[in-house]
Amino acid sequence: MSTPLFGGIEAGGTKFVCAVGTSPTTLLHESRFPTTTPAETLGRVLDFFRTIHCETPLAALGIASFGPLDLHPDSPTYGFITSTPKPGWAHTDIVGVFAREFGIPIGFDTDVNGAALGEYRWGAAQGLDTFIYLTIGTGIGGGAFVNGRLVHGLLHPEMGHIRLPRDPARDPFEGICPYHGDCLEGLCSGPALAARWGQKAETLPPDHPAWALQAEYLGQALATFICTLSPQRIILGGGVMNAPTLLPLVRTTTQKALDGYIQHPALHEEIETFIVAPGLGNHAGVLGAIALAELAWKEALHA
Ligand code: ADP
Ligand code: ZN
Repeated sequence: MSTPLFGGIEAGGTKFVCAVGTSPTTLLHESRFPTTTPAETLGRVLDFFRTIHCETPLAALGIASFGPLDLHPDSPTYGFITSTPKPGWAHTDIVGVFAREFGIPIGFDTDVNGAALGEYRWGAAQGLDTFIYLTIGTGIGGGAFVNGRLVHGLLHPEMGHIRLPRDPARDPFEGICPYHGDCLEGLCSGPALAARWGQKAETLPPDHPAWALQAEYLGQALATFICTLSPQRIILGGGVMNAPTLLPLVRTTTQKALDGYIQHPALHEEIETFIVAPGLGNHAGVLGAIALAELAWKEALHA
């Protein structure tokens, strides 16, 4: 039997990235479309896959999307983006558009759960059974892989919106989350850094005090996730993590926040392999979507 071909869609708030393939070394036809209206954007994505599907039929499609999403297979709105504040995109059926067109298994999950699955399959989480993937970018989100499966639960985790202790006397910035103000995303996303310091995050020099404060909050957040889920590794992705000094700082602040409580080498001499950068680099998002396609295809085979 020849290897089945998978399609992947990384559905982001600013762009959609599409590709086909089966692994990082077989990625083909990667294309990007700006996120405009749902009709226009999904139309372009459909055209992209129609052309490919005519020549080489796809076995399954995976969609890793910005959210919130309806991930309950029994729900009448399964496969929809639900209550997003992104103009025009609330209550948009995503899965249905592709399921009706191609009639193949469709994997659908959050962008961060997709990225987590891609890292598990080919990147920095191979061989683990419990880990988290966090993105620190335009927003902050976390994908959780626990006991060998992606976590959905009630809806899906929203790790970016946990509350953090902030001392207003030391840090008067009230945060920018429209729901919570100074939650993790409200304090530490790229736009939060820009609002706090009056310049884009990527222009803040490495010795700027922004990074020590950023690392302190991220360390508190990671300590919370470590205490809650007991991950075997934490992968930190997203544009803000490109700041060169941030990853080593976060390792130290996480250790400080836990204050020696968790007795495991991962939190001590093995910290550099416990809090890590993604293994899949620039293609992590779309490879995550391809990993979702592969999973949906395998589940359909065993159904
Ligand atoms: P998205 O979250 O929209 O998918 P990214 O993960 O690329 O996109 O994150 C974009 C954010 O990352 C922006 O707010 C930008 O200011 C910030 N960013 C990009 N590069 C850097 C950098 N080198 N240092 C710090 N912040 C950065
Ligand atoms: Zn929030």
